Amino acid sequence: MNRNTRIAVVGAGLGGLTVAGFLQRAGFATAVYEQAPTFSRIGAGIILSANATKVLRRLGIEQDLIEAGIKPECYVSRTWDTGATQYEIVFDAGSERRFGGTYLNVHRGDLHAVLEKAVAPGSIAFDHRLVDLQETGDGLRLVFENGVIADADLVIGADGIRSKVRDILLGPEPPRFVGAVAQRAIFPSERLRGFKIPDCTKWWGRDRHILAYFMTNKRDEVYVIGVVPAASWDSDAASLPCPREELVEAFGDFHPDLRRVLEAAEDVSVWPIYDRERNDCWSGGRLVLLGDACHPMRPYMAAGGVMAVEDGAILSRCLATLDNPADAFRCYEATRIPRVSEAQRISIENSWMRGPTETDWFYCYDPCLAPLAGAPVEDTFQVGASPK
Ligand SMILES: Cc1cc2nc3c(=O)[nH]c(=O)nc-3n(C[C@H](O)[C@H](O)[C@H](O)COP(=O)(O)OP(=O)(O)OC[C@H]3O[C@@H](n4cnc5c(N)ncnc54)[C@H](O)[C@@H]3O)c2cc1C
Repeated sequence: MNRNTRIAVVGAGLGGLTVAGFLQRAGFATAVYEQAPTFSRIGAGIILSANATKVLRRLGIEQDLIEAGIKPECYVSRTWDTGATQYEIVFDAGSERRFGGTYLNVHRGDLHAVLEKAVAPGSIAFDHRLVDLQETGDGLRLVFENGVIADADLVIGADGIRSKVRDILLGPEPPRFVGAVAQRAIFPSERLRGFKIPDCTKWWGRDRHILAYFMTNKRDEVYVIGVVPAASWDSDAASLPCPREELVEAFGDFHPDLRRVLEAAEDVSVWPIYDRERNDCWSGGRLVLLGDACHPMRPYMAAGGVMAVEDGAILSRCLATLDNPADAFRCYEATRIPRVSEAQRISIENSWMRGPTETDWFYCYDPCLAPLAGAPVEDTFQVGASPK
């Protein structure tokens, strides 16, 4: 596509910054608009598997992420009451070679601080909340809450589960509350008073599960996220404070090893969990969606963020390779939808690594090299060059 095409990315999350970073490297003038006034260190961790970290390597930020987070030695699935190991995957030099990338746990705030480096300095306009998009005949006009107006030829909606761009493309539709909430806490490891835990454990109960993992190399910060059934979420808030006792009680009949960790937790908050039904329309005209804007999924496979990263790599390759947006968007959707919908299905089933699991199809995938569905020409996009 003509490199004079002006591209606007709405949303500076994982997906938005990935696609913007690659488009800039491919020579497109790409601006990113983010509603938040700045990135803040919100209290949560995130798991980034090799299929995403190998993409972030091409954006030059893998090493910074490794330093900001932790390469866990293992991921263990244990039965809620007996503590029996249901599945264990070891992460070492061998697995890194096989997957082609690292498996990483990191604090979301630290992730964002690093992600910002993936795009050219000054290309993120913070405090820009998109409120409208207007056709201008030869392009699109972006209207922001702060009164700013910007023009672009293409708009990428990377604005998350409550995407405004999605509303404009498909019509407003609230996301679906899945009948569960996440209780999350981050606390210093010293509160464990020497009690040793593996780097990453998922405890599987009958109607609930909980993960505990370290987020830093020093193993000085623990993150727990427990998912429990809930009839409804009656607040407009994205999260609410939660008494620690509620977390302890919710997992009160779990194995003593877990209870010991929960006794140490502090600063607990509770978050509603939403997703959307699968919808295979991700684009129209000059608009295209990626990440949670088009396929939010339950956070049970640790796949939502990494899928957004994969989308960013594939979409940028399609735009760089194909001559017009319609072909690029068709290729992007055809390449992404089968893989993403499988991750959505597994997330709803909550079966990933519950028992013996074939993980190679997921972790070995390389979105920078994978074939583009139906692309008529050789993919000539050079990944890894410096941003313009
Ligand atoms: C409890 C929980 C745990 C999770 N754990 C994991 C995990 O371990 N691994 C994993 O891969 N995924 C995980 N996920 C999923 C992951 O967080 C999301 O899938 C991922 O953040 C999606 O990235 P995104 O870039 O599409 O959207 P987001 O990260 O939501 O980014 C969207 C951005 O757009 C901005 N924005 C929104 N509206 C506007 C607007 N109108 N104008 C301008 N900007 C706007 C937002 O401020 C935000 O910065 C988890 C999710 C939850 C809820």
